[in-house]
Amino acid sequence: QAKQQGRSQYQFYSPEINTQLQERLTLENELHGALERNEMLVYYQPLIDLHSGHITAMEALVRWQHPTLGMISPAKFIPIAEANGAIVQIGEWVLRTACAQNRAWQLAGFTPIRISVNLSARQFEQPYLVEVINQILEETGLQASDLELEVTESFLMGDIERSVKTLKQLRELGIWLALDDFGTGYSSLNYLKRFPVNMLKIDRSFVQDVMSNPDSAAVTNAIIALAKSLRLSITAEGVETQEQLDYLRMQGCDEGQGFYFSCPVPADIIAPMLQKTSQQMEIITA
Ligand code: C2E
Ligand code: MG
Ligand code: MG
Ligand code: MG
Repeated sequence: QAKQQGRSQYQFYSPEINTQLQERLTLENELHGALERNEMLVYYQPLIDLHSGHITAMEALVRWQHPTLGMISPAKFIPIAEANGAIVQIGEWVLRTACAQNRAWQLAGFTPIRISVNLSARQFEQPYLVEVINQILEETGLQASDLELEVTESFLMGDIERSVKTLKQLRELGIWLALDDFGTGYSSLNYLKRFPVNMLKIDRSFVQDVMSNPDSAAVTNAIIALAKSLRLSITAEGVETQEQLDYLRMQGCDEGQGFYFSCPVPADIIAPMLQKTSQQMEIITA
């Protein structure tokens, strides 16, 4: 009977696996032309100062609007783009689009904020990365201090000497640096101290169950304490509830990002939120 069950399961899952594989192949083939076909979009999600309630930054998050498969999440196509190299071009486009958008908000009279852009491992390894970023800043007229780049420990750990050198060059330009998904990678305190970053972003997985899982709370508190003692600013990602927000604020977390404030949205939806930067976000003061 077990054998029969196994067989029926196999028959049940087989077409599904095939479809997944098929989809991956489709995505892989169509990724290279996606930019030219204008299928990529940049969404924005605000980062909130947990004490003042002001928006301090926006994270740029790429989306792929596929003509037949619909909206595809970066979690699905970034790894493919990373594997076939398309990420270099896509990443540069996201960077240019996000910098131009931030400059446009400034020109429209909104209080200046940082724009935060995720860098991929492949991009980080590009020998001309610093020049390319510098050129994008010049082209868009955005100040380096209004740009933040998010990197992850896992890819910095590849060639540490080189990573430190590149990070230093970016810092010298005046760009802010954040360690993304902190706590999930190969954290090494020894290297953390050598990476010239400005901020840590506590991974969503810890924030998610910070109220129900004492271990997640312990890790969250430890990361906040670590950031404080290294004089780094600290952001919590994935804030979804008032309880999480209150807890994080009480623990001394500086900034928060999550569905509680806003999910990632197109730029035109962001503009009305920006007008509020002179006041406090109602959610927090309520
Ligand atoms: P990330 O950089 O850690 O971005 C945060 C992710 O968490 C985003 O997913 C965001 O939508 C999601 N998120 C934010 N708040 C909440 C919340 O309260 N609850 C939940 N459940 N999720 C929340 P998204 O947009 O799907 O992006 C996934 C990942 O893809 C990003 O994680 C980043 O690693 C990567 N990515 C996105 N855009 C780019 C890009 O332009 N370049 C590169 N290299 N990677 C990107
Ligand atoms: Mg990020
Ligand atoms: Mg993150
Ligand atoms: Mg994350």
